[in-house]
Amino acid sequence: MTGASLEPGAVLGVLGGGQLGAMFAGAARRMGYPVVIWDPDPDAPALKLAELPLVASFTDKPAFEKFSTSINAATYEWENIPASMVQALEHRVPVRPAARILRIIQNRLEQKNFLASCNIPVAPFHAVTSSDQLAVPQSIGFPALCKTATLGYDGKGQWQLSDQEDVRRTQNELAGQAQHTWIVERFLPFEKELSVLVVRGANGDRRLYPVVENVHEGGILKTTRVPAAIDDKTAGQAAALAGATIDALNGVGVFCVELFLMNDGRLFVNEVAPRPHNSGHYTLDACTVSQFEQQVRAVCGLPLGDVKLTSPAAMVNLIGEDFTKATTDAGIQTFLRDAGATLHVYGKKSVRPGRKMGHVTFLADRREIAAERATSLISRLAG
Ligand code: AMP
Repeated sequence: MTGASLEPGAVLGVLGGGQLGAMFAGAARRMGYPVVIWDPDPDAPALKLAELPLVASFTDKPAFEKFSTSINAATYEWENIPASMVQALEHRVPVRPAARILRIIQNRLEQKNFLASCNIPVAPFHAVTSSDQLAVPQSIGFPALCKTATLGYDGKGQWQLSDQEDVRRTQNELAGQAQHTWIVERFLPFEKELSVLVVRGANGDRRLYPVVENVHEGGILKTTRVPAAIDDKTAGQAAALAGATIDALNGVGVFCVELFLMNDGRLFVNEVAPRPHNSGHYTLDACTVSQFEQQVRAVCGLPLGDVKLTSPAAMVNLIGEDFTKATTDAGIQTFLRDAGATLHVYGKKSVRPGRKMGHVTFLADRREIAAERATSLISRLAG
């Protein structure tokens, strides 16, 4: 697709059928675009929303034929899909973001090398290509983190290295893995974790959502608060850094740039997601145009939408058993009494520890009140 846009009626393909794919499908269908969803898991929640659901491995040739001949453009909701397949797909239909970007992002080492080569500040890092080479060089120092180069998400594939004993123990663990590239990076004692959603159109038009503040638990996002409780100067710097990161990638689509804010005001990019992000779910309820509608617009070459925050908000992820507690009679009655609360359930078949089952967004006139409601839900779930 070079300039022309896709009109309603065009069919959009999505690689991956999780909640991000389902929310994309919801936006696409509302705008008149049927979707084809491809996922290897027959229980993937987005499949129910597809005009054509495809259940097959991402290396399945007949599925590739079916997918590529049924759609007018494609996107993905998960970065761990084979980049070679996405590249082959690009020969048939426009894919946004491009396979070139997916290749950089899906490998942590390539991503860090790319960002560093563009003078984007990242934690000092070091590549490890065999388990017996695992070490924490002086330039990085303890404490450090070891992360898998590929297939790591939600804090999986991450080891804390506080001393030489940790290094030895981790070496033994890595020796048993098929994976053979890792990075060791400096542990940054950040003050806050921030993120910025960046939407970029094919014509280079760019929109940035407000800077949000995230809290993780065990490597998994627990809450997002927007706007972040930071001064305007820091917010401006975070936005500028996120925008520069996606400009450097020359990306088209929706991206999330995750940042660490240090207590001396320095900002570092942790990682980039080439798709809508959990920390952007608040946009469904608190912005004029959601991150998922923006993804539809970017994929179809339509004008990008407004990114204005219509209300301060706080989002709480319902993870594992928290979901069961929150959605049983008493739980649901309590938090839905808040006029500004909305519930989103992803429709996954079974509850598993660490599995994102849904989320709740609280809107309020003031950021502090939205945050308080989120905190109160979290403490009720913990109690
Ligand atoms: P990641 O898989 O890189 O997104 O890491 C998951 C979480 O681990 C992040 O959201 C941070 O809370 C934490 N983390 C990752 N890298 C670092 C780092 N270099 N220093 C401190 N914490 C980190």
